[in-house]
Amino acid sequence: MSSKKSKTKQIKPAVSAADISEAVNRHLQQSLGLEREEAGPHELWEALSLAVREIGLQKIRATRQKESSEKARRVYYLSLEFLVGRLLGNNLHNLGIYDQAEKAMAEHGVSLVDVLESESDPALGNGGLGRLAACFMDSLATLDTPAMGYGINYRFGLFKQGIAGGRQTESPDAWREDHFPWGKERPKRKQTVRLYGRVVEKDGKASWEDTKEIMGMPWDVPVTGYNTDTVNTLRLWESRAAEGFDLTSFDRGHYMDSRSKEINAENISQVLYPNDNHDAGKELRLIQQYFFVACSMADLIARYKRENGDSWADFGKKVIMQLNDTHPAIAVAEFMRVLLDEEGFEFDEALKLCRQVFAYTNHTLLPEALEKWPAQLIGKVLPRHMQIIYRINYFFLHTEVEAQWPGDDSMKRRLSIIEEPEQPGGDQIVRMAYLSVVGSNKVNGVAAIHSKLVQDMLFPEFHKMWPEKIVNVTNGVTPRRWLDHCNPELAKLIDSKIKGDWRGKLDLLDKANAYADDPAFQKKFAEIKLDNKRKLAAVIKQECGIEVNPEAIFDVQIKRLHEYKRQQLSLLHIMALYRRLLENPELDVPPRVFIFGAKAAPGYKVAKTIIHAINRVADRINNDRRIKDKLKVVFIPNYRVSLAEKIIPAADVSEQISTAGFEASGTGNMKMALNGALTVGTMDGANVEIAEEVGDDNIFIFGLTVDQVSELRDRGYSSWDIYNSNEELKAVIDWLASGELCPDEPEAFRPIVESLLDRGDYFLTLADYQAYSDAHDRIVDTWKTPAIWWKKAIINSASMGKFSSDRSIADYNRTIWMMD
Ligand SMILES: *Cc1c(COP(=O)(O)O)cnc(C)c1O
Repeated sequence: MSSKKSKTKQIKPAVSAADISEAVNRHLQQSLGLEREEAGPHELWEALSLAVREIGLQKIRATRQKESSEKARRVYYLSLEFLVGRLLGNNLHNLGIYDQAEKAMAEHGVSLVDVLESESDPALGNGGLGRLAACFMDSLATLDTPAMGYGINYRFGLFKQGIAGGRQTESPDAWREDHFPWGKERPKRKQTVRLYGRVVEKDGKASWEDTKEIMGMPWDVPVTGYNTDTVNTLRLWESRAAEGFDLTSFDRGHYMDSRSKEINAENISQVLYPNDNHDAGKELRLIQQYFFVACSMADLIARYKRENGDSWADFGKKVIMQLNDTHPAIAVAEFMRVLLDEEGFEFDEALKLCRQVFAYTNHTLLPEALEKWPAQLIGKVLPRHMQIIYRINYFFLHTEVEAQWPGDDSMKRRLSIIEEPEQPGGDQIVRMAYLSVVGSNKVNGVAAIHSKLVQDMLFPEFHKMWPEKIVNVTNGVTPRRWLDHCNPELAKLIDSKIKGDWRGKLDLLDKANAYADDPAFQKKFAEIKLDNKRKLAAVIKQECGIEVNPEAIFDVQIKRLHEYKRQQLSLLHIMALYRRLLENPELDVPPRVFIFGAKAAPGYKVAKTIIHAINRVADRINNDRRIKDKLKVVFIPNYRVSLAEKIIPAADVSEQISTAGFEASGTGNMKMALNGALTVGTMDGANVEIAEEVGDDNIFIFGLTVDQVSELRDRGYSSWDIYNSNEELKAVIDWLASGELCPDEPEAFRPIVESLLDRGDYFLTLADYQAYSDAHDRIVDTWKTPAIWWKKAIINSASMGKFSSDRSIADYNRTIWMMD
């Protein structure tokens, strides 16, 4: 952080319970048209949110004034997803008015908790990538970093998941329909963007003509920081028909696909694509990307000019644009277009400026997630941008690659932003990750091991050309939401021992390590966990109708459903545990509850089959009296931020079992360890650094490492060999294949079995099975001695200082954004 800049210390707002009550009543009457007596929790939620937004918007103005007088560099965080979760409780905490609000609500005869519960999650993201953007917004404000988030105000966020007959159902989530008091429309800042058309050469200049015009309306959401007066803006664009644009009505009856094929202004910001780590490749998606990028670019350039005048001389010092994955990568071409076609730049100067202001975060190595657009499609939707991409590529290959590898045409082919068709007459493909690397100043991976793989496996040649370009910034999570807010009793216990401001300086948690052996502290820590488990048990009873024993080990796997995350590994192991119990019902094992939460992309068949299988196995196990409640399996539907906030404080075991090399970082792993869960995990993503922080004795690491995975693949891996040599594993796979678990559709689980056996088990589930099962035996052994278990749990929580998103943002400030 800047040492020159004064820390915006929080002036404790002169907001009393009475002030809040007054503002709430005013909003009830004037904004909502209700009498005080008519207001239930939901109406009070809305009125209280409006009252808090008022404070937020005031502080935004103060923050902007301060920043523009300091003329600081500002970070623009471009992300197609912001999975912010509920905002009221978080904002009350950050503004330091939680207790006052509690009192004010009590005067209205309701509990603040009920008011907070009536907020629906703004589900503007899929999973980890979108949640990261939200944690980063919290930390940017907390660290007083001048910043603005840009994204899309989707009308339908991620689908709502139900379970019927064990299978996932999807329905649209019209999350704004029951009001979104946090967003404020800003018509003064609306933008018009263009699509389609053609490029005409005029006096040696390119001109983009005959375009369709779309209007972008910004919605501003205030983002409060912890213990500071800084409030930043999250600006979300909504598409509208520009004047004279043909309106086609939106068919609400169908979800995603079977709608009108015609892309019109209205439906650009309708729906979030529900894929996690998978490229959809659809025209509407490309248009979404360009729409929000072009609106944001015009907006931030206008702001620069308002603050700095028309000269571009300082732009590189005042602006940084962070690309959250390649989703906003078209920004590189859009920026070049503005400079070349509208601002009179020469190509070399434009690219130079581009390389000062862009930075790109890579989130995945999965080939199917790396975005590639047909050149034809970009050429149709954005003809001028396609020309510019060719121009950038020409310069890059024939000047820069040529200088590094003179005369090496195969290297040029390898590094080209444009992938040439394998067959003559095939389509050229634009590699958006390459465009991002070539156009950026810095590229970062999101955990140490992942960044190393980005350097060595994904972009080795780029790393050779530009050895300083690819760096690491390990992800983090905000301790305000993921400890203070979701686990208030644990926060209080920590407060009783740690005097400093651990909420703002999470490294201070380390002091709690001194109490890891203290029986009294252990007892309190364990009681808080048990209490959180009782609360989760009530949620499970309500959501799933299943009784679980709060004294059991709560073993949790919550994350998007993906074969690389390997929920199927846990499933096979649970089936094996069940068989062991049937063989020996007197087996001396502590009772265990396996808890899942996961949405599968609607088009991802195997993932949906895994959900189905988990639920069928759960049904069987939960209703079998022979095993005396020693095993329960629960799939809680509709996993989302607000549900995560209830599950995480209750987790004893955190499942982080991805195939090594596939999980870029993970952040669920950090949240659960912070709340005192022990991780069972592979040496993947941030698990590696978690192990480093907590020590090998306090984590259950198992399975193949990245190096062993590639050795095994080189040797030739046969999942059949493992299947044939491991009796228990063979038995459970045969059982899954037999159809016995799903009499109404005996072939239902074939896709899982095929993936594990016939299709070669790409994610090495069987290869890691025995090691995983052994790790669980160690977990059970450890659980049997509470003094050891709770010591480890405390050490986990106390050692998570590194994984605050404040540390991540401080790293970005220092190594990527050069914020002085
Ligand atoms: C943290 C979080 C994630 C990311 O979980 P991983 O285990 O890192 O994949 C996904 N969804 C929600 C709702 C989260 O809060």
